[in-house]
Amino acid sequence: MKFAGMIKQSLVDYPGEIATVLFTRGCNFCCPFCHNGNLLIKPGKTGADYISLQEVLGFLNERKNFLDAVVISGGEPCLNQELPDALSKIKDVGYLTKLDTNGSRTTMLSELCVRFLIDYVAMDVKGVLEYKKYLEACGGRLSTEDFFNIKGSIHLLKNADMEVEFRTTVVPGLHKPEDIIAIARYLEGASKYSLQQFNPRDTLNPDYHHIKPYTREDLQVMADECRKYVKEVRLINV
Ligand code: SF4
Repeated sequence: MKFAGMIKQSLVDYPGEIATVLFTRGCNFCCPFCHNGNLLIKPGKTGADYISLQEVLGFLNERKNFLDAVVISGGEPCLNQELPDALSKIKDVGYLTKLDTNGSRTTMLSELCVRFLIDYVAMDVKGVLEYKKYLEACGGRLSTEDFFNIKGSIHLLKNADMEVEFRTTVVPGLHKPEDIIAIARYLEGASKYSLQQFNPRDTLNPDYHHIKPYTREDLQVMADECRKYVKEVRLINV
């Protein structure tokens, strides 16, 4: 497996742990508020350098007394069929593992859970679980199978025996406050839901550069309502 980028040390990507973050290339969505546009190009369609798994494992072996965890982010990591093997090798070195995913590959997610290859999953819930609204939040690129899988992944993760966080980037124009509360209602019974502040800088869709984010107070009101359905609701990047 190859990686498109790496943050050697992060204090914010795995709650409570010092983590290395690895980025995979390629995504099946095209979210207008995405900040990782450089990672969306399909693997092989770019002249950019890659970091090999061997290089990553060498680095992780050297740093195992200083680092606790590895986060795999993207792009969408679950599009990569070599992901289970890579995670297995990373776990063999002794690291905690976290996956950031859009939830559209339930079969892969299920395999990772069943084989105990991940300790923490953060799944994006892009919008209200209605096809048309979700399609808009994914930038018009969402197959009916992907949408079906997203619901399946939510069900899988709500019942999984590991740390799970659902999160939504709250974007005015895409999400009204009542949409966020509807998402929380859908997630009822989940342990953690994060509302991530929207950042208009460097978004994939330039029209989003002009959208004014909700205020902290607005988000706080939404979070308070969401707590009726999900015990722990937190604001991030606010
Ligand atoms: S799921 Fe959306 S936000 Fe995440 S990498 Fe793909 S396009 Fe970007």
